[in-house]
Amino acid sequence: MNVIAKNPASSEAIERLDAEAVNSAKVRQPLYAPRKKIFPKRASGSFRRFKWLIMLVTLGIYYVTPWLRWDRGAYAPDQAVLVDIANRRFYFFFIEIWPQEFIYVAGLLVMAGVGLFLITSTVGRAWCGYTCPQTVWVDLFLVVERAIEGDRNARIKLDAGPYSLDKIGKRVAKHAIWIAIAVATGGAWIFYFADAPTLLVDVVTGHAAPVAYITVAVLTATTYVFGGLMREQVCTYMCPWPRIQAAMLDEHSLTVTYNDWRGEPRSRHSKKAAAAGDVVGDCVDCNACVAVCPMGIDIRDGQQLECITCALCIDACDSVMDKTGKERGLISYATLSDYNANMGIATAGGTAAINPRLVRDETGRLGDKVAHFHLRKIFRPRTFVYSGAWALIGIGLVVALLSRDRLEVNVLHDRNPQFVTLSDGSIRNGYTVKLLNMIPEPRVIVVSIDGLPGAVMTATGIDQPEGRSMAVPVEPDRLRTIRVFVTQPQDQVDGTAQSFRFVVEDKSSFEADTYTANFYAPETR
Ligand code: SF4
Ligand code: SF4
Repeated sequence: MNVIAKNPASSEAIERLDAEAVNSAKVRQPLYAPRKKIFPKRASGSFRRFKWLIMLVTLGIYYVTPWLRWDRGAYAPDQAVLVDIANRRFYFFFIEIWPQEFIYVAGLLVMAGVGLFLITSTVGRAWCGYTCPQTVWVDLFLVVERAIEGDRNARIKLDAGPYSLDKIGKRVAKHAIWIAIAVATGGAWIFYFADAPTLLVDVVTGHAAPVAYITVAVLTATTYVFGGLMREQVCTYMCPWPRIQAAMLDEHSLTVTYNDWRGEPRSRHSKKAAAAGDVVGDCVDCNACVAVCPMGIDIRDGQQLECITCALCIDACDSVMDKTGKERGLISYATLSDYNANMGIATAGGTAAINPRLVRDETGRLGDKVAHFHLRKIFRPRTFVYSGAWALIGIGLVVALLSRDRLEVNVLHDRNPQFVTLSDGSIRNGYTVKLLNMIPEPRVIVVSIDGLPGAVMTATGIDQPEGRSMAVPVEPDRLRTIRVFVTQPQDQVDGTAQSFRFVVEDKSSFEADTYTANFYAPETR
């Protein structure tokens, strides 16, 4: 261990790590060049703990959700979240979405998009650093890798060493567990599309549909390759989000920042240099921030497209600052405007090189003029606009959901023939009437005609005498199509096209819907 600094108040020494950036723009290899492997060191600290929590919650939601039950009565599936492709329904706890109600799903997607804009404009790429599936699964795969092969140095040594029984055993164990995780990931996905317990039995006994096995195989392969083998390459080369998010950041957005206004000039022998009267910053060039970075970059090179703002370098550097007795935050979440203000102080308004003494007061602590992030800086016109748009869409969706009809009627007039003249001279029109019972209970729906004096109707398959209304039983959660014939006596026909309404009602719930249709008749001479 190369000890480069020691705080007199602490017995802990700072280890200088042999780490260098391998993925920043200036050293990045072309896509098809052999990948330089990254061996992220385990970090510890508040951001790491927060990431563990997010990881547990997101993985828990993903794997557990299909197994949650929700009682919808005897006529609907009891899976809380279900995309029922066969019956073209989407169930989400108490909400049931029919295909023609896809606008609600579209609304949720728009909300997710606006939410992403809001998050990005305030806390930068928080999505990438904490909740993106690629980040979460890479983290999970790294947990396995560290448990089997050890932390950074052990993994580097193992990777560089010749193949031995020990190395082969570790590699086989690691890849076997990775594949098991990948299978579980692909397996969990298909449970969102069918009753999970039934499908599990079918899959295990070989009775599931081929598409289920194909889906599991594809997702297993992508999870294993993206999470285990490609890792940071997915973010750097494949994901469009790093390119898009740059347009959403402004000078008040939080990003992980190396505060060179207090860190430079960096020195591995800061005490000696300070004793010699040299100006030295807080960075002791220990490379701890580089060693923990899962993207293989050096945040001290400035903002980079590759940085997913996972904040692990903040944890690593904070522990170094604790050991040197300096304030935490040499690497921190900071806004560009705060950074510029502090840089202005350190460089005397840009007229000189960085002098970190200028940001410190006579006691050696960071001075009062140093700008720090404050929560109120989140509230600015841009974030108000995003929050307002997000809330408006959300309120609109909730109101629409709560007030939507669960009984609908759609009518299609026969095109050919448009009308038939019966032997007694009366005129008959045919219609295809679609009754949508959108609740998971059977209903008797009363269909009647409103307008069209003297007209009566009959329906095929409905054993009721002709009249101006009829009761039609409709199964739960189903659409029933009936053929309806409306007949009007010749002496009551009033023109070649008369408008009237089909009215459908559920007398027990008082729900109703109407459809305005036309009744056609021949010209009278
Ligand atoms: S530079 Fe820091 S915040 Fe950015 S990816 Fe690396 S460790 Fe995470
Ligand atoms: S920024 Fe912090 S962690 Fe990185 S090299 Fe400097 S002192 Fe070490």
